[in-house]
Amino acid sequence: MRTMDPSARRTWHAVFAGEAVGALGSDADQGLDGAEAGRRLAEFGPNAVTPRREKGPLLRFALQFHQPLVYLLLVAGAGTAALGEWIDAGVIFAVVWINAAVGFVQESKAVRALAALARTLTTEATVVRDGAATRVPSTQVVPGDLVLLQAGDKVPADLRLVRCRDLQVDESALTGESVPVEKDPGALAPDTSLADRRNLAFASTLVTCGQGAGVVVATGDRTEVGRISRLLAETRELETPLTRRIAAFSRVLVVVVLALAAITFAVGLARGQSPFELFLAAVALAVGAIPEGLPAAVTIILAIGVARMARRRAIIRKLPAVEALGSTTVICSDKTGTLTENQMTVREVWLEGGAFQVTGAGYAPDGEFCGVASGAVPGEDGRLAECLRCGLVCNDSRLAEEGGRWSVQGDPTEGARLAAAGKLGLEARAEAGRLPRLDAIPFDSRHQYMATLHDAGPGRPRIVYLKGAVEAVLERCSPGGRAGEPEAAGAALRAAEEMAARGLRVLAFARGSAPPGMGRVTHAGVAGGLSFLGLQGMLDPPRPEAAEAVRACRRAGIRVKMITGDHALTGAAIAREIGIGVAPGGSAWPRAVTGRELEGLSGAELAARAADTDVFARVTPEQKLRLVEALQAQGHVVAMTGDGVNDAPALKRADIGVAMGITGTEVAKEAAAMVLTDDNFATIEAAVEEGRAVFDNLVKFLVWTLPTNLGLAFVLMAAIFAGVTLPMLPVQILWINMTTVVLLGTTLAFEAREPGIMDRPPRDPAAPIMTAALAGRIVLVGTLLLLGAFGLFEWQALAGASVAEARTVAVNVFVAVGIGYLFNCRSLVGPLHRTPLRDNPWALGGALAMLGLQLAFTYAPFMNRFFRSAPIGPGEWAAIGAVAAATCLVVEGEKGLRRRAARHQGAGAP
Ligand code: ATP
Repeated sequence: MRTMDPSARRTWHAVFAGEAVGALGSDADQGLDGAEAGRRLAEFGPNAVTPRREKGPLLRFALQFHQPLVYLLLVAGAGTAALGEWIDAGVIFAVVWINAAVGFVQESKAVRALAALARTLTTEATVVRDGAATRVPSTQVVPGDLVLLQAGDKVPADLRLVRCRDLQVDESALTGESVPVEKDPGALAPDTSLADRRNLAFASTLVTCGQGAGVVVATGDRTEVGRISRLLAETRELETPLTRRIAAFSRVLVVVVLALAAITFAVGLARGQSPFELFLAAVALAVGAIPEGLPAAVTIILAIGVARMARRRAIIRKLPAVEALGSTTVICSDKTGTLTENQMTVREVWLEGGAFQVTGAGYAPDGEFCGVASGAVPGEDGRLAECLRCGLVCNDSRLAEEGGRWSVQGDPTEGARLAAAGKLGLEARAEAGRLPRLDAIPFDSRHQYMATLHDAGPGRPRIVYLKGAVEAVLERCSPGGRAGEPEAAGAALRAAEEMAARGLRVLAFARGSAPPGMGRVTHAGVAGGLSFLGLQGMLDPPRPEAAEAVRACRRAGIRVKMITGDHALTGAAIAREIGIGVAPGGSAWPRAVTGRELEGLSGAELAARAADTDVFARVTPEQKLRLVEALQAQGHVVAMTGDGVNDAPALKRADIGVAMGITGTEVAKEAAAMVLTDDNFATIEAAVEEGRAVFDNLVKFLVWTLPTNLGLAFVLMAAIFAGVTLPMLPVQILWINMTTVVLLGTTLAFEAREPGIMDRPPRDPAAPIMTAALAGRIVLVGTLLLLGAFGLFEWQALAGASVAEARTVAVNVFVAVGIGYLFNCRSLVGPLHRTPLRDNPWALGGALAMLGLQLAFTYAPFMNRFFRSAPIGPGEWAAIGAVAAATCLVVEGEKGLRRRAARHQGAGAP
């Protein structure tokens, strides 16, 4: 097989297309047969490039040590060892390793989870097998397969093109050059450089325009992109603006803590304390005050949020989107398929002089035409048949029946036309036999029409059929064609508007003739001179869940705007039905602006329209981009949906580009930060809800973890300034920090959404993560820890307990308060008893595990040796429990006071 021969691999561009097809044992029309494709799949393996590891596991493990805290610990460990404290030094070093191992495992899990999610978004390709075009996962494409390309596709493998029609490919993934390359199947000189091989299409590049077909010459690692695998690096960054902010905060904290430790050391020295004791104290302070687990915990919380969103059918492709979702203030949504069902049924056919109502539901060709004004009899009205025939043959979809259920393969807008024609007895195969298709201009949303050229038989002129948006079709009907006359065109336009105002999606139909020799239909060829045939109005009902989702967004302070390619009145009618742009309970028509009106606007005018309009119709992709920019300039955080090739810039520019998983093109998915696997608007709303929950959980974690650090710093500084024995040793502090964060803190990531999460306004992305009230709570709990731990330590010392026993009590105070306070933190606002345990069993599990560990810490002899702890009695446990319970009650009291104050002010969050 030539594909296996590297010397031959580079010469496909120099042979004629037919020769290449033959050499690969394929057929330029029929493709491969299924059995041969299966055999080749077994021989060459799946069409996937072996991912090159960005960072090997060893390097990633080593990088765990590259943190300020670890450096600090290593210095502390070395210092402790130099002082001859071998056990302490050993524990410190062990902690560094355990910390690195935990960080490594958590990070790997997060990376793997994100990568697995990304894989659920499989790319598909259209191949011809046994003479029929079929969609297959692109991993199953084999050498010799005939691949069909159209705008929006990602090229699945390296292809030698055999046919092209205006085919343009964005090869920036391969060459870095973003101007699309025009393709042509002609053979080239053997020495043509890679970038100029216009008769090849390379894997991973994107089709921006036109259509084409090519035979696969290389798959997987043998493709150009596979050879230089640096390109495919779909690198999944775990960094987001928030993690960067938290990392920066940690760095500042390290400096502050080091300074505090140095001051403490100096003060102690000045007061004549032993430098050895002081060194231990300074190390303890540094270790205690720095929140070690913070960065890892933040990543875990974000990763869990991503998994939750996936369960609700929103796949996050770019991690920062998780955060942006919580701050979204505007959602700009498509209409067809996102807000509506994309289930089209023709309800009305308008011909000049009258209209026919069409009965029947779904795509089954069962129904009747009832003539209205014209008094015409459906079967005898040749104009009705011709209008339906146009819709039938100028069509790329198919209907399929399975067990009495009819479904459409292809565009539902087109499928509806097949069903309508079927109701009059017109059948696609018979019509295609009578009028073989010679050429076609596929539909694209820029031109808003589709045209086909047909052979009408020997000696007869060829027929051009055209269907599309009403304006686009009428424009092309000449004065000779009846609707081209101003009056007739006016009647058609009025009829279209009347149908649109009822929420129907209207398409217009026209035909023309072409000289017998003409083999191609071009945009210029159908610019005028056509005869108008009629209109068809389809019903595409709103999704039942859309109205509720729009209401939820409104309550959440998020404005929903519809951006549609459809008619302004159709858009406005649907918007009104689902409550976009209308006051709750109101029935006024939402304000709609068309792309044409936007065209002439200045920047300031556009900004004003972007802000005050809720329905944008007949909007071009370029205008979508301008709208995103205008909204962002006003401080909005914008989620924008899109599915076509030309939507990519707007999707990239939006804070959250949302692509459709079912109907979206590969180009759109690639540009998007989030992909909806069900194309449903309600899923965006669900993702916003999860985004808010992720942020809440992050804040909960911070509010839970920081008091421990603050409390530890307080206790140590108080001891040093008071000149008394340290209530805790560095290794004990390390123990508290490491175990409680993992066992208790991270369980907050699984916390359920707070009730009323969608009743508050979006979070201002520029606002500090922590409010003053929450910072106050952190200080409060830190102070209670100081009083409890220091108080009990001194009480033990006075009662004649050993230092080891007193220190064990102090450590247990921190852990017990950590456990009780965890349950306070499960809701930042709501009372503890309204936060059911079953909503987060992890919290209870973590608390029990932590209790078990603490018993070991207190009573297991080896733990006593390593951590200098000692068994304590029931009286001590009672006192520890009392401190924990008191802290829990005080925090609940504080939350209650805040709730009352908020009720008085009419605000919600603390
Ligand atoms: P949205 O952007 O909300 O999804 P849309 O699907 O109507 O709306 P486009 O696909 O850009 O947006 O379609 C724009 C217009 O082009 C439609 O209103 C319709 O009149 C026409 N049109 C849509 N699909 C076809 C098609 N397959 N053939 C011909 N004309 C079409």
